Amino acid sequence: MQYLSTRGEAAPRDFEGVLLAGLAEDGGLFLPESWPSLSAAEWRGLRGLPYAELAARLIHPFAGESLSFETLRRMTGEAYAGFGHPAIAPLVQLDARCFALELFHGPTLAFKDMAMQLLGRLFDHALAQRGERITIVGATSGDTGSAAIEACRDRSAIDLVMLHPEGRTSEVQRRQMTTVLSPNVANLAIQGSFDDCQDLVKAMFNDAPFRLEMRLAAVNSINWARVAAQIPYYAHAALALGAPDRPVAFSVPTGNFGNVLAAWAVRQMGLPVERLIIGANRNNILARFLASNDMSMRPVEPSLSPSMDIQVSSNFERLLFELLGRDGAATAAVMGRFRAEGRMPVPDAAWREATGLFHGFTLDDAGTLGEIRHLWQAAGYLADPHTAIGTAAARALAPEDRSIPVVVAATAHPAKFPDAVEAAIGLRPPLPPRLADLYEREERYSIATPDLGTVEALVRSHARRN
Ligand SMILES: *Cc1c(COP(=O)(O)O)cnc(C)c1O
Repeated sequence: MQYLSTRGEAAPRDFEGVLLAGLAEDGGLFLPESWPSLSAAEWRGLRGLPYAELAARLIHPFAGESLSFETLRRMTGEAYAGFGHPAIAPLVQLDARCFALELFHGPTLAFKDMAMQLLGRLFDHALAQRGERITIVGATSGDTGSAAIEACRDRSAIDLVMLHPEGRTSEVQRRQMTTVLSPNVANLAIQGSFDDCQDLVKAMFNDAPFRLEMRLAAVNSINWARVAAQIPYYAHAALALGAPDRPVAFSVPTGNFGNVLAAWAVRQMGLPVERLIIGANRNNILARFLASNDMSMRPVEPSLSPSMDIQVSSNFERLLFELLGRDGAATAAVMGRFRAEGRMPVPDAAWREATGLFHGFTLDDAGTLGEIRHLWQAAGYLADPHTAIGTAAARALAPEDRSIPVVVAATAHPAKFPDAVEAAIGLRPPLPPRLADLYEREERYSIATPDLGTVEALVRSHARRN
């Protein structure tokens, strides 16, 4: 399997090349040259498989010659062995037609573990074969950092340095990062904002000698391997509810468009996905796009669902490329104008095609609290603020055909956002037993000013130690 860049200029790469590169050299994102497609009989044959086995079978066509099936199956087995639920991604029925697909039973209680746990192993394997090491640097406002740290801790070919804004993550989020005392993990608390952290990471990548010296790599959500690793849970849910013989709809609380892109991918692979519902908080660039072809940047405003507080949904470029008939030059032109003018000129025909499948929904903080309360009172279900936006969106925009089930991606455990849950229902959700001692664990991190020289010196001393 070869991968193409959405901007049409970068040379094609195989799965391993795409895994290690992240972004293409022309600034585009990688996509498979064609979508693996399964027949209805082949889909039926996958029903009932254990999650890790299904994941290996569905990811393997994307890996192609880069990985043997046996190696991949060993990795998916290990990746999901530490999850806190035997079903890995259980489906919980909420009402007559709506289901929560719980993606938060991994080590850091958010759906990012579903992909990141595999990604860490894929990186380690590829690097060991090449006899190489890398230094992963990243900036986080919360969930991504802890998922990356859990995925990369103790891996022999990886050093990881994660930057977070000092005092601006929740205490649960900070402790999930800083209590990992593995020698290959370092946390830097930057005396500044999340944007300062992100600017420092960009500056390190733009410092070519430093980038080369440290062999810098990234694990952000534009990495294709992360999207690929999210495909199996949508297939798992659809198969359990009767696909390919019965259509399904998915409702996905969305930020960077990575998670919902994987739901779209299972449709490309032949499953009958009738509708894709995108839930947003007040940072609703995608919902505005779907309502009126208005994809325009606005300043980010904080909300109760911080993992969806975004200005731009980076992974949307992959859908755009498909909507533009896989024309790399046209995609590059649209993205260039978006960056220059802050507004994306999506051609009308492409917009219409998108709105035939995707529907957008916006919910503010008061509505989110109301939905958490509603789920608790009507179904006895405890939802985090991100998931609640997904369930409200599902009720508002489900297909008219009531025989079509709607699966909501439950993206975080309610205990990860205890303040919002308490504000809604007056109860503080407890951490699951394996994290119950989080507040007693020893923390380790360095504090640094947002200064490139200082931060590079800290990264260098950390990477050199190993
Ligand atoms: C990252 C995240 C999202 C957004 O997912 P995208 O793939 O960026 O659209 C939603 N909810 C939670 C809890 C997250 O951590």
